[in-house]
Amino acid sequence: MVAQPSPVSCRVPHSFAVCANEWEYLTSAKELRRVALHEASHAVMAVLGGLPCWGIYVRGSGSNCMFCTIVTSGQPLGKSDYLHAAAGAAGHVIVWGGYSHPTTNADREIFARVDAPSWDETVEEARAILEPEREKIETLASLIEEIVKDAADDDVKTRMMDGDTEPYRELVSAKKLYSVLDRQPPGPVAQWLEANTDRIGE
Ligand SMILES: [Zn+2]
Repeated sequence: MVAQPSPVSCRVPHSFAVCANEWEYLTSAKELRRVALHEASHAVMAVLGGLPCWGIYVRGSGSNCMFCTIVTSGQPLGKSDYLHAAAGAAGHVIVWGGYSHPTTNADREIFARVDAPSWDETVEEARAILEPEREKIETLASLIEEIVKDAADDDVKTRMMDGDTEPYRELVSAKKLYSVLDRQPPGPVAQWLEANTDRIGE
């Protein structure tokens, strides 16, 4: 038996330049590296913070595709959620010493809540936590780059998610993510991996 689908949400999605013809990204290598590091940082922080993470994906296709790291948020939102949201910016601070503001618009949304901590302080906190994980973040980012650049469309696993008609193409599987971080996937993710279903969170 597989656990009931978790309230999985596509948190912190990112518009990613323009991608046409499914897998052909009209973007520079530098832009791809930027997005890959950003998503890898979100994913690593989700795992470190104990939020179930279902992997890193490209949602949709054509000009509407975006990168996303899928996590199950805390109910209610807690410290791990804020650190996870700030992690994309923190990853850029670690590698490049700073981040561009527009790339964090979606990440900063939850910081508008009245009980939210400060964005800047949370980015700094996330940076301190992620700094020792830099190598793993870069490993995951390289995996993302390789798939986007080199994988044929047919070689990329496509998954669906409840309540969404868009396909999710898998860049880093949950299995790979937890393995790179040398952690065991939490119960719901482990059961899902074992069931090998094509639907995220089921
Ligand atoms: Zn982000």
